[in-house]
Amino acid sequence: MTATIVEDWQDRAACRGPSQRIFFPPTTSERRSEKRMREARAKQICADCGVQDRCLDYALSIREQHGIWGGFTESERRGMLGPR
Ligand code: SF4
Repeated sequence: MTATIVEDWQDRAACRGPSQRIFFPPTTSERRSEKRMREARAKQICADCGVQDRCLDYALSIREQHGIWGGFTESERRGMLGPR
C-alpha cells in the first residue's frame, strides 16, 4: 500500500513489506485468473490487519482509484461511493 500522505495507522499496516506489491496490479499485463488470485491473497492479509477499518475509510475519503485498500478492490469501493 502506498499513499502520498503517510498517516499513523499506516505504520501498523499488515501489508507493509514485500507483500505490498500484491495490492496493486503489475506494470505488465495480468491475466484475469492471476488478478483474481492476487486480489484474494491481498484480501486475506487485509482480513487479519488491525487497521482495516481506518484503511478503508481513508481510501474512500480520498477516492483512491487503484489497488486493494481495507480489503476491497477499486471497483468494490466505487460501488460503495456511488456516482460523483
Ligand atoms: S487493510 Fe489491507 S491494504 Fe489496508 S493497511 Fe491493512 S493490509 Fe494494508
